[in-house]
Amino acid sequence: VNVNTRSHNDSNQRRNTPSKHPAFELISETAIDSLKVVVEQYRHLKTEAVHYHINADHDENVFMVALRTVPGDSTGVAHILEHTALCGSEKYPVRDPFFMMIRRSLNTFMNAFTSSDWTAYPFASQNKKDFDNLLHIYLDAVFFSRLDPLDFAQEGHRLEFADKANPDSDLEFKGVVYNEMKGAMSSPTSLLWQALTSYLNPTNTYHYNSGGDPEHIVDLTYEQLKHFYKTHYHPTNAVFMTFGDLPAEQHHERFESLALKRFNKLDELIEVADEKRYYAPIQVTQGYPVEDGVTEAKTHLVVGWLLGHSTNLEELLEASFLNSLLLDHSASPLRKVLEQTDLGRSPSPLCGLEDSNKEMAFMCGLEGSEPEKTSEFEALVLETLEQVAQTGLPQSTLESVLHQLELAQREIGGDGYPYGMQLMLAGLSGAIHCGSFVNLIDLDPAIAMLREKIQKPGFVGELIHKYLLNNPHRVTLTFYPDEHFSKRRAEQEKKRLAVIKSALSESQTKTIILQAQALEKRQSQHEDESVLPKVGLEDIKPDVFVLHPQRHSVKDSEGKALEGWTYEQGTNGLVYQQLIAPLAGVNL
Ligand SMILES: [Zn+2]
Repeated sequence: VNVNTRSHNDSNQRRNTPSKHPAFELISETAIDSLKVVVEQYRHLKTEAVHYHINADHDENVFMVALRTVPGDSTGVAHILEHTALCGSEKYPVRDPFFMMIRRSLNTFMNAFTSSDWTAYPFASQNKKDFDNLLHIYLDAVFFSRLDPLDFAQEGHRLEFADKANPDSDLEFKGVVYNEMKGAMSSPTSLLWQALTSYLNPTNTYHYNSGGDPEHIVDLTYEQLKHFYKTHYHPTNAVFMTFGDLPAEQHHERFESLALKRFNKLDELIEVADEKRYYAPIQVTQGYPVEDGVTEAKTHLVVGWLLGHSTNLEELLEASFLNSLLLDHSASPLRKVLEQTDLGRSPSPLCGLEDSNKEMAFMCGLEGSEPEKTSEFEALVLETLEQVAQTGLPQSTLESVLHQLELAQREIGGDGYPYGMQLMLAGLSGAIHCGSFVNLIDLDPAIAMLREKIQKPGFVGELIHKYLLNNPHRVTLTFYPDEHFSKRRAEQEKKRLAVIKSALSESQTKTIILQAQALEKRQSQHEDESVLPKVGLEDIKPDVFVLHPQRHSVKDSEGKALEGWTYEQGTNGLVYQQLIAPLAGVNL
């Protein structure tokens, strides 16, 4: 069935013109035809805050402010800060403005994310008044958070007596993030991931557990949290992103009047340094807790390599291509040997490419193995790579992997995120690590380059040598179950709490009891919601946006008339087609 799609240039005219707000300067303007958007990059003159506006004829407007948060320890400071920043701000001094707004808003998305090197606060709304309301809340929460010490105690960590009012009962560590991370760290896969990542990154921020390791969380002080907030939640360290049909100038007016005008430039530049390289591969062994005492067939064997920058689209595509070639399905050469070997039960959950950090990592492994099989496992992986590098793979495999990769990279939709936010997340690492945001969302040139490269004989071998076999920054990890781990850790914590308790002065004891009371009292307190903005019926347009189709009359291969409709959207170069046929002859 052939359907002619008309050219889409007409919609460009409806887009807004770039902002002329005096507090900002326009750095660049790039049209991305396949997405039907124009990316405008601005800089706030006084603070040097960066703003990317994705100018699109789309009424689901999205806002995100992302901060580089680069912890130098495992206290979970960025994670605890994300929790506490949402507990009330200068203009909205209620305990939970964020969650209260969920009920007072027409948002299509509200959330906060902590990644290993950034923290982002995004929301989306199709209603202009609602968007503005949420923008007020978000800017105030991020830049003028009140960071109440009680919130730190509640969300981060605190000491409490097991029987809250009884100083003779045992002391305990409490706290939302403390408990959250205790839960997260009880999963062997999380521990395995954390261990391999820390060896692959011996010196930079990824060495640490950005969510927080319970044992280190309790070291964090309120003063350290405030200091981290002051230096990291600052416009100079921020990347603003907006998407949609609201004009950039309107955003600039809001950013300036609600937040930026109160700041000066921060002198310290926060960034992630490239990891220092190993000159020879390393082998490490680490134990993890097993609860049931059974250690047989519970060892994980993994090998990982640190690759190039995820902010470089060419390297990102090459690494993704290699990853798919080796691991996509049961017939892919590396997955095949990992599935079939009797060195372990099955491929490790860690198999694949990790591209969320500044430098990517490729890893593969086995679970259900034994510690003494490490060398054999490592040799198997290297031999397999050697072999694939030598013989290459059929051209048809390369074509189909590239095709799948292109589909995966181009597809917009799914994941449940608003369209504009998917674009933002795709380009965020480029923006955060001062690479290019535009390059990461404008795929056409890089995909065309890769398509050309795969025609060259020996390309697969080149990739394998470049990224893996000739790359000495390789870690082989033997992650074995230790039946005494949990007991030792619990004893250590008990000892630590006993030492703290024995050193408590009378007034410190009293403070702990009073804090527990204050937290309890606050839980039951009624909050005044009326300080928060809301939308009324008068703010809601009576008409709903409907995408109007064009109707076509087309003929099938036998000349029978069919009805066809086309819907025009920026789909990143993909045409989606649905054929609907009656199944009259099927009896169920
Ligand atoms: Zn959390």
